[in-house]
Amino acid sequence: MSENTAPTHHKVLIIGSGPAGYTAAIYAARAGLKPMLYTGQQVGGQLITTTEVENFPGYAHGISGPDMMEELREQAMRFGTEVRYELIQKVDFSSHPHRAWTDSDEEMTADAVIISTGAEAKYLGVPGESFFLNRGVSACAVCDGFFFREMVVAVVGGGDTAAEEASYLAGLCPEVHLLVRSDSMRASKIMQERVKANPKIKIHWNTETLEVLGEEKVSGIRVRNRISGEENTIAVKGFFVAIGHKPNTEIFKPYVEMNEMGYIHTHGKSTHTNVEGVFACGDAQDFTYRQAVTAAGTGCMAALDAERWIKETGRD
Ligand code: FAD
Repeated sequence: MSENTAPTHHKVLIIGSGPAGYTAAIYAARAGLKPMLYTGQQVGGQLITTTEVENFPGYAHGISGPDMMEELREQAMRFGTEVRYELIQKVDFSSHPHRAWTDSDEEMTADAVIISTGAEAKYLGVPGESFFLNRGVSACAVCDGFFFREMVVAVVGGGDTAAEEASYLAGLCPEVHLLVRSDSMRASKIMQERVKANPKIKIHWNTETLEVLGEEKVSGIRVRNRISGEENTIAVKGFFVAIGHKPNTEIFKPYVEMNEMGYIHTHGKSTHTNVEGVFACGDAQDFTYRQAVTAAGTGCMAALDAERWIKETGRD
């Protein structure tokens, strides 16, 4: 931007185009706030990487992730949301109005900012893992477990998420192999006890995954015992990676309070952050539920919180 051009101003800037961002946009647009939404690199968010979404209310027969996100985008635009297919690379929340810059260095200001930048699942990076994504490899048991009911599956990880995913899958599958890298789990005591007491869950201690095997779909995994060095193949149809998520919140760190993992703190049951006029929703602030419908729910809340804050502070 040339030095003489004034930055464009928006009442509401929404950063992110997942279910949280688009839902916030629908509400903000219908409230007459003419939101500006920046999609980031993954237009439509995490769901564009999945084939079938069966648990979002309103789609009785399921819908493909990309189709669902396209409908949400259209719905947001129908009410006047302006959508830009760029990344916000820097923000300055130190004074009002808030400032943000795109990756092409265009500056803008905004009264209210809604952060809906989501999170990314971490993967192991072993051979076969990315090839079989959506063909047996998943990072979400609640999302994809149903597709593997009555099949043998494996879960990798030793924390609470892995313990929860293994317990959830044990309700659907006859056998769940839980692969833990060391001789103990990081999961809370109660989750560990639950996993250990479940006869369907077989824990493989000191075990690392070397490769995901299969032709069209996953048929097994090659693992190694880290103490004995012994290698084995375990026949599974589903391989669930539960080694954590990384929220996309790095650029907000200088201003917005977060926990040690980078999830944004929101006040009480609201979407208010510690910064006046900055709201957070979806997977960027939720490490508990991580579902499209909950992201959409908090997106709605963020738009309503922003609208009320704009009114209360006389910025309408
Ligand atoms: P995301 O969907 O993560 O979207 C984040 C958005 O922020 C993206 O558009 C990204 O481009 C943008 N962004 C990030 N940084 C920036 C930036 N600096 N500037 C601008 N934009 C930025 N949930 C279900 O309910 N049902 C399912 O069946 C299901 N299946 C899933 C399958 C897979 C493979 C995965 C990975 C997840 C699945 N989930 C499912 C979980 C669901 O996708 C997430 O809970 C949901 O997408 C979170 O929504 P969100 O809007 O918070 O963030």
